[in-house]
Amino acid sequence: MDSIALLRHLVQIPSPNPPGDTRAIADFVAEKMRAIGCDVRQLAPDAKPEALNTIAVLGAGEPRIMLHAHIDTVPIAATEAEKWSVDPYAGAVRDGALYGKGSIDDKAPLASMMLALMDAAQRDSLRGSLILVAAAEEEVGGQLGTKWLADSKHLPPCDFIIVGEQTANKVATAHKGVMRATVRTSGAAVHATNPDRGVNAIVAMSKIIGALDKYHRELSERVHPVVGSPTCNIGVIEGGSTANAVPDSCAIYLDRRMVPREDPEIVQAELRAVVNSVALAPAAADIGDFVYSRWFDSASDSDYAKTFMDCIKEVIKDDPGPVGYLPGSDAKHLTDLARGDMIIFGPGSYEVAHAADEHVALADYQATTDILLKFLRRTVY
Ligand SMILES: [Zn+2]
Repeated sequence: MDSIALLRHLVQIPSPNPPGDTRAIADFVAEKMRAIGCDVRQLAPDAKPEALNTIAVLGAGEPRIMLHAHIDTVPIAATEAEKWSVDPYAGAVRDGALYGKGSIDDKAPLASMMLALMDAAQRDSLRGSLILVAAAEEEVGGQLGTKWLADSKHLPPCDFIIVGEQTANKVATAHKGVMRATVRTSGAAVHATNPDRGVNAIVAMSKIIGALDKYHRELSERVHPVVGSPTCNIGVIEGGSTANAVPDSCAIYLDRRMVPREDPEIVQAELRAVVNSVALAPAAADIGDFVYSRWFDSASDSDYAKTFMDCIKEVIKDDPGPVGYLPGSDAKHLTDLARGDMIIFGPGSYEVAHAADEHVALADYQATTDILLKFLRRTVY
């Protein structure tokens, strides 16, 4: 199967999440990898048996190199469907690009990795093992996908880990983490004919919003060399029911991006301190519902990472990075398995992912494959 046919075939197997049923695409990957002699396991958590992952291992022993790509895609949003100029599940090629939902995120990196294993399978001289992880659930946070695989000890520690995402074929060595939180204010409801008899929870919240906005601006003074500054965004506000009553409750939902090395507990404490610093009496406020996903950071100073960057330079004739990767990825769930460096790497930009007419330039896809082949030839056979 040639490289374009392989990618088209992957695009032609829809795997939107939700609902996150990856059985068909996981089976396709398993079948292809079994055919070249890989030891293949297919695993899904009891909590979501249709979120099937495929792990294919070629070779044995050390060193171990993991190639990881996710097999779920975002769903096609109602407002997006009519904007597609081609069938999103046909894999049409137009003007040197292959179009389709999931084409760049994350089926092109997956296809390049499968091609790399196919090439390696033809060599007698492979040293160590190549572990292809075709993972479910990335688009909803990876808790029942890669995190579950790692926590359940289905993935071995590896000497080098390549997570396929859209980095313009450069090496990305860091992404931010996310802290979510909810702030609630409470007051006393009365009829709007005499507001001063009540306590307006929205007015109280407006003071907190001002303080959080100031906090966000102060965060820009902290700069990580690769991913930039932490941020604090107020994404949703809810409160009140009618214009003729003083509202007794208001809530806002926050998204606080954490840069590598920021301690989630300290970030929570900072957010609490901002909320508590605002004088609100007789209204009251609290912050809670903290949920976070971690950042990822890798030094990229190992021999593997250096060799990988050399291979990029030779293929794309451009600066190989390191760069940051703005969206999150499954890399955050693999940090405990990385004995050496872990990188995020793949064709194109995440900005064309998650949108109508998602596509991957065939030249970029070819470069991704070429870089992986060059890297493996130089390191393990
Ligand atoms: Zn992705």
